[in-house]
Amino acid sequence: MKKTNIFLIPLFLFFISCSPSHQIKQKEKIVSADTVLTNGKIYTVNPLQPWAEAVAIKDGKYSYVGTSAKVAAFIGKETQVIDLNGRTTMPSINDAHTHSWQGGFKLLYECNFPFTATPDEIAEIVKDCIRANPNAEWIRGGQWTSDFFKTYNIGSPKKWLDAISEDKAIYFQDDATHNGWVNSKALELAGIDKDTPDPAGGTYLRDENGEPNGLVLETAKTVIEKILPAWTPEQNVASLTAAVKHANSFGVTGINEARTPPEISLAYQELDEQGLLTAYAITYLQTPRGRRVKPFDIRPMQKISQKYRSERVHTMFAKIFLDGIPSASRTAVMIDPYLTDETFPEVTRGHLLIEPEVLLQDMIELDRAGFTVKIHTAGDGAVHIALDAIEAMRAINGASGLRHQLAHVGFIHPDDLPRFAKLNVTADLSPYLWFPSPIIDSTIGAVGKRALHYWPIKDLVDSGANLSIGSDWPSAVDTMNPWPAIEAMVTRKNPFMDEEDALWPEQAISLEQALKIFTLDGARAYRLEELTGSIEVGKSADLIILKQDLFSVKLDDISEMKVEITMFSGDVVYKK
Ligand SMILES: [Zn+2]
Repeated sequence: MKKTNIFLIPLFLFFISCSPSHQIKQKEKIVSADTVLTNGKIYTVNPLQPWAEAVAIKDGKYSYVGTSAKVAAFIGKETQVIDLNGRTTMPSINDAHTHSWQGGFKLLYECNFPFTATPDEIAEIVKDCIRANPNAEWIRGGQWTSDFFKTYNIGSPKKWLDAISEDKAIYFQDDATHNGWVNSKALELAGIDKDTPDPAGGTYLRDENGEPNGLVLETAKTVIEKILPAWTPEQNVASLTAAVKHANSFGVTGINEARTPPEISLAYQELDEQGLLTAYAITYLQTPRGRRVKPFDIRPMQKISQKYRSERVHTMFAKIFLDGIPSASRTAVMIDPYLTDETFPEVTRGHLLIEPEVLLQDMIELDRAGFTVKIHTAGDGAVHIALDAIEAMRAINGASGLRHQLAHVGFIHPDDLPRFAKLNVTADLSPYLWFPSPIIDSTIGAVGKRALHYWPIKDLVDSGANLSIGSDWPSAVDTMNPWPAIEAMVTRKNPFMDEEDALWPEQAISLEQALKIFTLDGARAYRLEELTGSIEVGKSADLIILKQDLFSVKLDDISEMKVEITMFSGDVVYKK
């Protein structure tokens, strides 16, 4: 491969150049790389050549991958040479599932408290936010954990916030960004009271008098969001700029925007035009959210997709929500019912947002139009329905080559496991939580012992399924940092704690398997595997140089891994 490249180019020049001396000069100029990385421990994720010592980069692409001795031929007068000094280098990370624009807002503008915050801590932080924004009509941010109201008996959620402010509307999202917590002012502005029926696919939790108590689940949260003051176009661009920098600092250069409203598509285009988009942006265009009994018209989405695509912004992707989340709110669709308790006395299997035959119609249309669809399927019931829809769609449309994705897939019925590979469906694992944690406890509280068999990653790998992995940031995790997730895939233990407890340890996979999912498989999920995801001649030079030796640190220390340099398309886009 490398030989072809070296010799083909001068041969081509031979035909266009007129004298032999000219040809030699041209040859030297062409062979010289823009950048050479040498003397490293380069893990390429290319099965044909897993390890290398050096690479040469020309015009943003690898022109050579091999030994330090041989790369010397690529060093010219202008070549920037980086001595890796034995440091581990590998392809940069593809984060297959984020809500980066929301993460950016969180970084820049919102009122934030950590997932672990106690009521007292939240009260202090909210008071500070109000002091800092005396003229704001709304105080918004988050995020409370699903178990917050179980752990702390604060009485009425709405009245608790009212005690902090009655004149400002307050809206806080939960850790999964599926549910909201509001005060009376927010309910008043949204026109929600005792007589307001629950929206389709959502719930206003109520007190004993039938008054909304301030917790708004799923589409009920969307009702509040509709009346929030819109961010300005400048704020949208600023938020994405912050999010992309955040991504690059963790070695991420593939950002899958798991639900993209039109104004965010515009902001990505803007960012790209300003030269600030130092990552591939895969924008999954949003489809109507909430309960739906009819197929939707895909034409407006097709227009948006054509208008906002560019070399770095990939817009032929769509997002469909089929269910909710399997923790305290019990909104993911499960094959077997949830546990009941005082708040949820009725037997439920969750909320299915789209009827199976409607989903099938959507899939037929989207697949025909060339959209890769990411379907939110958090419960095993939703996974089953989505696989059925894709199977029926494939029978009608034939093999389109599109690798549709099922997102989250924590629970999969064993009979459904082999269907991923069979139907060419990607299992998009997110968020980064395959270890014992408060979110798992909340899930155990809702589904019982089933939660001990959460995220069958090894079974998926063994079944030959294509996998991708996403942080889901800012849902459930504070950052896009992939390293705790990589550690937990290998150990299934909490990477932040010194505990021996593991979540379904039989599902642990090897470090090499985890790295492949985070790099090459991610690129494959969004059909850029010819361009990125591994270190190979001809591919884009998207790589990271690590501070520690990834392959000799203890498994428990992988989560501490720091990125020293992130390179995207041959440019250094982050340097510690
Ligand atoms: Zn998500």
